[in-house]
Amino acid sequence: MPSPADTTVFRTCPLCEATCGLELTIRDGAVTRTRGDKDDVFSRGFICPKGTTLGHLHDDPDRLRGPMVRRDGELRAATWEEAFAEVARRLPPIIERHGRDAVAVYLGNPSVHNLSGLLYNRLLLRALGTRNLFSASTVDQRPKEISSALMFGTMVTHAVPDLDRTSYLLLLGANPFESNGSLATAPDWPGRLRGILGRGGRVVVVDPKRTRTAEHASEHVPIRPGTDAQLLMAMVHTLFAEGLVDLGAVAELVVDVDVVEGLARDFAPETVASLCGIDAATIRRLARELAAAPAAAVYGRVGTCTQEFGTIASWLVDVLNVLTGNLDRPGGAMLAKPAAGAPNTLGAPRYGRPARIGRWRSRVRGLPESFGELPVACLAEEIETPGDGQVRALVTVAGNPALSAPNSGRLQRALASLELVVCVDFYLNETTRHADVILTPPSPLARGHYDLAFYLFAMRNVANYSAPVFPLEPGQIDEWQILSKLALAAQGLGADADPALVDDAAIGALVERSVVDPHSPFHGRNRDDVLAELSPRTGPERILDFMLRVGPYQLTLDTLLEHPHGVDLGPLEPRLPEALRTPSGMVELAPEPVVADVERLRASVARARDQGEAGLVLVGRRQLRSNNSWMHNVVTLVKGKTRCTLQVNPADAVRIGLQDGGSARISSRTGTVVAPIELTDAVAPGVVSLPHGWGHDLPGVAMAVAQAHPGVNSNLLADDERCDELSGNAVLNGIPVQVAPA
Ligand code: SF4
Repeated sequence: MPSPADTTVFRTCPLCEATCGLELTIRDGAVTRTRGDKDDVFSRGFICPKGTTLGHLHDDPDRLRGPMVRRDGELRAATWEEAFAEVARRLPPIIERHGRDAVAVYLGNPSVHNLSGLLYNRLLLRALGTRNLFSASTVDQRPKEISSALMFGTMVTHAVPDLDRTSYLLLLGANPFESNGSLATAPDWPGRLRGILGRGGRVVVVDPKRTRTAEHASEHVPIRPGTDAQLLMAMVHTLFAEGLVDLGAVAELVVDVDVVEGLARDFAPETVASLCGIDAATIRRLARELAAAPAAAVYGRVGTCTQEFGTIASWLVDVLNVLTGNLDRPGGAMLAKPAAGAPNTLGAPRYGRPARIGRWRSRVRGLPESFGELPVACLAEEIETPGDGQVRALVTVAGNPALSAPNSGRLQRALASLELVVCVDFYLNETTRHADVILTPPSPLARGHYDLAFYLFAMRNVANYSAPVFPLEPGQIDEWQILSKLALAAQGLGADADPALVDDAAIGALVERSVVDPHSPFHGRNRDDVLAELSPRTGPERILDFMLRVGPYQLTLDTLLEHPHGVDLGPLEPRLPEALRTPSGMVELAPEPVVADVERLRASVARARDQGEAGLVLVGRRQLRSNNSWMHNVVTLVKGKTRCTLQVNPADAVRIGLQDGGSARISSRTGTVVAPIELTDAVAPGVVSLPHGWGHDLPGVAMAVAQAHPGVNSNLLADDERCDELSGNAVLNGIPVQVAPA
């Protein structure tokens, strides 16, 4: 029962991409109840099991409350002064002796759910000046970012399915009933999918597994893992062959349709049917249904990115949206218009620069750079391989590559060989156990929150800022200050340098650019006057306030503070050509790098014909109560029966001699794990499935709950040498494995 001592606060959940509004009841400095905020303009009360655990994270006794420094081989509690002194003592000499590329950076997924991370990581990177930047993006989403950048002009311009108005949705490699959606932001994906069915529409799920999403769909089309690109190309072929191409309202805004027609010519449904495990009639029917629907959208996610042709598959998702006239129309695949100034709202409304991909290659294997990053699949070899440019130090921010990188066993060994590891993290986990210095950010409830990233892909234009629920704990410094002090240390300015130097320089540079930008609302203004308007705020809130003011709605942070349930900016509206930033100012339907890669796709079809029957392959799976690797220390999310199981089709189990509830030994080129067996016909014969993010049984970890529910690390089996060539994204979908009773 609520008591007079209770206070209620409203907050956007920062844990996944769905951006749900939460209602928190606070008593005596603790969260006593968490519910969905029924007045939230976007989520209307929806909440998932993870959203209820923010208070648990805040109270977790294993959450580190202060920095740690390794002394005599052991990590020990330290003061902030000691921690930064250690960084300032050890980091600059490595840069001086070996050059800037000797320091690698890994940014984990939670960095994107965090205002300080989004705004200040880039300042740290600029200060380090390294080409060895890695992130979770090259684990599972870089192909989509590349295809979007090539077609629409920026890596954040993703066409998202307009779920609330569509009548036909084709989902590939996505399981939003478990993931709550990704690169397509909406609370309550399950309810929105049910809404499509309720309106008489159709939802078709293409997936190797009969996922929970597939179970609730109109139709599940099982596919051989890793063959989405071939399927989609055959659907494109069908559209052209049957005269079903109709670009609708964007016809004058798209170039190179004829090039795509030529590329698809060799991919008749009969050519790819056996490879994909989908008969030609079904492929044709899917293409016809898509073309005939009053409004339709194709959406592909992790499963389509984590494969050998991830970029081609991601590109073809949007090619289908374009060819069926569904790009940029209500009910189709649309573009959000975020409130904070973004790459596709700022600057000139049309002509942009070429996508920043392939400007350099990794030192050892020659994997391609994209958007300033190298694929994480090559991080281990960059650490292991001697020579100029060898990585000798690593800075991680909210990342756990020891679990999330492909062939993570190799990376774990490589991490142990580094001269210096600095981690910004509040858990002593599988990666930070290698740290020499751990710098601990505040609890998620002690920082302000605004989803700068995810409103870029939202299915409705909204803006919602959450002020910190709790003050910083005694002695705690803010995350932007941690990142700024790291940046200053990297520049050799010592441990005592004032982080305000970085903050003031950052906002000063933004304002200076805006007053000379003819497209900015601040154009022609006096720099100091603008800065005065933004004062007395500092840190991420000041930058956010600025970004809101230069955004398309010219909001302010004060306006958002007056609206604790968010500001509703309306349904998505057509944005072409204004949102485009390609060199041509058009939708570039056949970008040259993708066109060049289609030859490899063609060869894959011929190769599969020659090889005949393949062996067992491993796919991953999403779990509603799991958030990659980092929320397994919350009891309510891990209790109950073991969820880290190897799912096996009963027919395969009989053939191999596996028993339900027994143990299986799973081996790949890179490693071996032993996992409990779960027999289910949800996976097709020939396919086995393990969830990712587990494997908390390593020495030196201090997460008691996670260690009591360790599971096994599926990335020990993922091959770091198998990548999508265009993006360098690891192949996690369709790993060849051998399975035997353990
Ligand atoms: S769906 Fe995502 S944003 Fe919503 S409550 Fe769950 S974890 Fe939080």
